[in-house]
Amino acid sequence: NDVEIKRTHTHLEPVQQKGTNKNDVEVKGAFKQFGSNVVLNGIDLEVKQGELLTLLGPSGCGKSTTLNLIAGFLDADQGEVYIKGNNVTKVPPYKRDLGMVFQTYSLFPHMTVYENLSFGLKLRKVGKAEQKKKISKALELVKMSGLENRYPRELSGGQRQRVAISRALVVEPELLLLDEPLSNLDAKLRHELRAEIKRLQKEIGVTTIFVTHDQEEALSMSDRVVVMNAGKIEQISTPTDIYNHPKTEFVFQFIGKSN
Ligand code: ADP
Ligand code: MG
Repeated sequence: NDVEIKRTHTHLEPVQQKGTNKNDVEVKGAFKQFGSNVVLNGIDLEVKQGELLTLLGPSGCGKSTTLNLIAGFLDADQGEVYIKGNNVTKVPPYKRDLGMVFQTYSLFPHMTVYENLSFGLKLRKVGKAEQKKKISKALELVKMSGLENRYPRELSGGQRQRVAISRALVVEPELLLLDEPLSNLDAKLRHELRAEIKRLQKEIGVTTIFVTHDQEEALSMSDRVVVMNAGKIEQISTPTDIYNHPKTEFVFQFIGKSN
């Protein structure tokens, strides 16, 4: 059933821990500048195994840049990224064991749902029969069974994001990166998918970094929230703590609560 898609890495050799502790992801001293625009101004963060950590902040504060750094799509000017204790700073994205979902355009438009999901499995040399099993489970997880032969254009926005999440999960990544996956959806669907992502994340136990500019979304979904502003981290804590004890004036204003 559903839950079987979870960690099946037991057959792998244990990874030798070289990092400082059991964090799944660590970013250390990240600086990034585009021209004269300082986009990341000393980012340090740790993501614990199995947690859903959210990067929250206004548009342009560096959330996507941080995520792209972790994914390996971007090189920092300074700083290091560790995944499972291994320094992956120089490792290309396809060799980092992660699944990613973007705000839009996450699916290959010329491929059916099934082909979208099998793409990553083929790359990993998973056999046809095994592919079929994994794809069927991954689609079941996001309630998209039966739509295998549809093309992305034949799906609603919510269905596309469900498939995108399913495609990210089908390869059983160590790490799931979600960059504002709900931002283009209407309010009702956004609430629905919010709850679903949270349930799914806990069910599978996959370490997840979620990006949003929506306070309510961040506070309702996350184990911990990283509040960012202008390339810096203002506060990292649980939703309750951030809500009740904003550490800076910025956090106070952004979360919008008097205490
Ligand atoms: P967020 O995801 O929080 O909205 P981003 O990380 O996308 O913010 O962007 C942070 C800043 O970096 C913005 O000012 C943006 O214009 C700039 N930026 C992002 N990517 C690039 C790029 N490839 N080239 C130049 N500037 C960029
Ligand atoms: Mg962004």
